[in-house]
Amino acid sequence: MKLTRREFFKLCASSAAGVGISQLYVPEVVAALENAADGNPPVIWLQGQSDSGCSVSLLNTTHPSISEVLLKVISLRYHATIMAATGETANQTLEDVKKDASGKFILIVEGSIPTKGNGEYCVIGENDGKHITLADTLKDLAPHAAAIVAVGACAAFGGIPAAKPNPTGAMSVSEFLGKPVVNIPGCPAHPDWIVGTLVHVLLYGMPDLDTYGRPVMFFGQTIHENCPRYYYFADGQYASNFGEEGCLIQLGCKGPVTNSDCPSRRWNNGVNWCIGNGGMCIGCCAPNFPDGTGSLYTALPKEKWPNKESKTFIA
Ligand code: SF4
Repeated sequence: MKLTRREFFKLCASSAAGVGISQLYVPEVVAALENAADGNPPVIWLQGQSDSGCSVSLLNTTHPSISEVLLKVISLRYHATIMAATGETANQTLEDVKKDASGKFILIVEGSIPTKGNGEYCVIGENDGKHITLADTLKDLAPHAAAIVAVGACAAFGGIPAAKPNPTGAMSVSEFLGKPVVNIPGCPAHPDWIVGTLVHVLLYGMPDLDTYGRPVMFFGQTIHENCPRYYYFADGQYASNFGEEGCLIQLGCKGPVTNSDCPSRRWNNGVNWCIGNGGMCIGCCAPNFPDGTGSLYTALPKEKWPNKESKTFIA
């Protein structure tokens, strides 16, 4: 049975807590990927200014295991943290994929791109004693990629490395390349968002994106709209200390200005999520995180508080 694009969208968008990535991995999806005309497409995963949290997030998937994702969904050819190759062999892999799979490979970038100091703040290799910078590598590979996916807050929107005073001139992938890319924000990005987006690109082409390049199937609603503490907010019951009952908006919750499906998808295979654990949403999927969302424990200005009746963001 072939899963239609619409059915796949619904599958992604309706993920129930505790089910997690397995929902994206139903037999119909696996069969479609295995029967894909071109086989598993090569994927290059570059790492820039980041803490590698998005890599760890993806590697933490347990159902299916990361090996199933890597062997049955994609063919990961380059990833500095997990590949066996080093030195010239690793450099050659980039050249080989560029040459042999031009127009067919998927380029994933984790982390922001430093542009000051000739890109020397992020060196990913050496050739004859000369540094190979992330910036030059990205510029070289981008025109040959079938799709470019920025994974995590730093790659998607600049994130913490690009926060003021931004000493390295860090930029998002889209800003650096001067063109739109698929943005999967989050600190880190959820593995379902990464794998679900890749599967969509492979089976159906580009997913529908919002004005910030985020797949609508994962980022179509605000955290606040689906928050289990919403009715505290509507009743005006606000927690003034962590651990208390009530809405966390006065403790700095950025849920009203942050789009993602965290409330239903949850993290660590559906175990919990920030607000479920008693912490507030820090806004890591918002395009202006962190400078524009305000400091972590500072409440949003009143004019940005949502409408209590309609749940809609009114600022
Ligand atoms: S402000 Fe935060 S804690 Fe309060 S209802 Fe909205 S998302 Fe939930």
